[in-house]
Amino acid sequence: MASKRQIAVGSVYIGGGAPVAVQTMTKTETANLQATMDQIRTVAEAGADIVRVAVPREQDAEALKSIVAQSPIPVIADIHFNHTLALKAIEAGAHCVRLNPGNIGGPEKVAEVIALAKQHATPLRVGVNSGSLPRHLRQLEYDNPVEALVTAALETVRLMESMDFEDFKVSMKSTSVPNTIASNRLLAERIPYPLHLGITEAGTKWSGSLKSAVGLGTLLADGIGDTIRISLSTFHAEEEVKVAWEILKALKLRERGPDLIACPTCGRLQFDMDTVVAEVERRLEAYEDPIEVSVLGCAVNGIGEARHADFGITGAKDMGMIYSKGEPLKKVPTEQLVDELFKEIDRFYAAGKVVMRDEDKAAEARAWLAANEDATQMTPERVAALEAAAAESDEQAGAVLESMLTPVSAPVALDESVSPVAGRRFSRN
Ligand code: SF4
Repeated sequence: MASKRQIAVGSVYIGGGAPVAVQTMTKTETANLQATMDQIRTVAEAGADIVRVAVPREQDAEALKSIVAQSPIPVIADIHFNHTLALKAIEAGAHCVRLNPGNIGGPEKVAEVIALAKQHATPLRVGVNSGSLPRHLRQLEYDNPVEALVTAALETVRLMESMDFEDFKVSMKSTSVPNTIASNRLLAERIPYPLHLGITEAGTKWSGSLKSAVGLGTLLADGIGDTIRISLSTFHAEEEVKVAWEILKALKLRERGPDLIACPTCGRLQFDMDTVVAEVERRLEAYEDPIEVSVLGCAVNGIGEARHADFGITGAKDMGMIYSKGEPLKKVPTEQLVDELFKEIDRFYAAGKVVMRDEDKAAEARAWLAANEDATQMTPERVAALEAAAAESDEQAGAVLESMLTPVSAPVALDESVSPVAGRRFSRN
């Protein structure tokens, strides 16, 4: 359920069925033009559609004009507490201004900002944050944090509408993943405006990426969310962009660059796969096409689940094999696997996206695969395939049983509580 309304942040459309836009925020002092522009160019190259810059001081607002003029992607000015800075940001040509109407000094000042935004056709991002809800919602926040967030967001939306202003998107952020999911689900049902999604202060690259993938991924899979930002504790804003893209690619919402598939490795691994995967990932960054490349740790499994990959390698102690779409291309010494893989990929593009196959080398590789594959081994992939087949037959048996038996209520453990996410139960252990 994409938002009904659409806004334009510079050249990027948000909501109304437009592709989910990737945002990030610069970590530099905005007034430091050189550093800020360097970071904006880096995040744009990494795939950011829109960039936000903090504007806490006069000199940041002054730098905005040059930043907007030089930026390859639309710029959002991030303002708190000071409506004068919001006015200056609009005048400087910011493509959008983010503010929390509850913290810029009262309705008259909000009205002043809205009047200028209308005059310049500048959209706003308005919203609420679990850390700064209005005073009158404090008790509700304590009793029902999800309802408190939604109420605060709705109050903000009504304030905008009362000023006859509809050129805005809404964000409702919380550090809690379940509350973010539950509140955005509720809000999406109640307003037609585009939603910006994020998990506030998600954390480090590792934990923050996971929290964001769970929270934002769940909402995006429901069709909720029109633009996303991954907040990570790193100076490298491009890392946030990469994570955002991985989430969108995993959900098949957008395509960008190659997709790398790699086996999890196990005791059958006979070469340094960590290094190989990292090197393949690094070299794939130079390609823009969404090809699928697979790295398997051994040939015991055959090409298995990587059969659909455009290109792949499978290694062993001394020799490995390069394949395409499930068909062997050639065998090569393990230390040349990565170089030869990229030679094949480059030949493919040079030939106009045609796989170049040397039949003698392919036959040699096929023979190597036949000698190394062991169809009797219980590899993780084969166990997974057996489990999936078993689950399917269980499901069929379950459906037959269900049609024969009267359903009974399932017992509920005492230490379980209802999570706000779709009423599921979770254990406190
Ligand atoms: S059996 Fe599967 S998981 Fe183990 S190394 Fe081989 S391909 Fe990787």
